Amino acid sequence: MANESLRQQLAWLYELQEHDRELLSFHKQLQTIPKQIAQLEASVTKYKVEITAKTEELGEIEKNLRSLNAKLEMNEVQKEKYRNEQRTVTTNKEYAALENQIEFLDKQDGETEEEILELMEMVDQYQDELTELESKAVSEDQKTAERTKAYREEQKNLKANIEQKMEQRKEYFPKIEKDLSTQYQRWMEKRKSDFVALGRNGTCGSCRLTIQPQNLKEAQKYEKLVYCTSCKRLLYVEPESSDIPYP
Ligand SMILES: [Zn+2]
Repeated sequence: MANESLRQQLAWLYELQEHDRELLSFHKQLQTIPKQIAQLEASVTKYKVEITAKTEELGEIEKNLRSLNAKLEMNEVQKEKYRNEQRTVTTNKEYAALENQIEFLDKQDGETEEEILELMEMVDQYQDELTELESKAVSEDQKTAERTKAYREEQKNLKANIEQKMEQRKEYFPKIEKDLSTQYQRWMEKRKSDFVALGRNGTCGSCRLTIQPQNLKEAQKYEKLVYCTSCKRLLYVEPESSDIPYP
């Protein structure tokens, strides 16, 4: 039953290929996870950066406010000084000159107060914006934590699956001829695509071209390895009799 043995080996090799296809897909999924977690973290960082910038701007406005208030206080002291002097001067001209100074400072104070009002409105606005940003950051943080947890869970499962698949993979090699498994491994490393092509209805399942009749006949005997003349893959063709298991 040497024929049967080669057919069985082709079946195992095909099974190994399917197994490896799944393994590769697990690896690909696993590779995307760190990137997805990094993206989630970036969205949280974005809010934090915005909050820091806005807090700094607010700090600047508050600093300006303090210096404007200090200016008002200084003017108050100065005006008090002029008023005291007014009580001691003896001429109308001196009195009027002091009055002028006081009026000048009053006018300056009026402008300062307007500026203060504007800045206070800005402070209110900035504080509202910050509150909103902070609440958004908190909800983004929560969302990210949940999603990250889910990704970590997925990562753990994938790793466990890969480990299990790698273990199962070992079982194929003692059953398959060394030469055949070596051909398979080399092809996979080089081409990163299927090595075994199923042949159904006289067509190569990989390149979709018709298998040459002579080749098909040879392949159906399962006596030697037959390759697709077009895509060079190893053919595992449907048996002539439906009694033989396939694939
Ligand atoms: Zn082909």
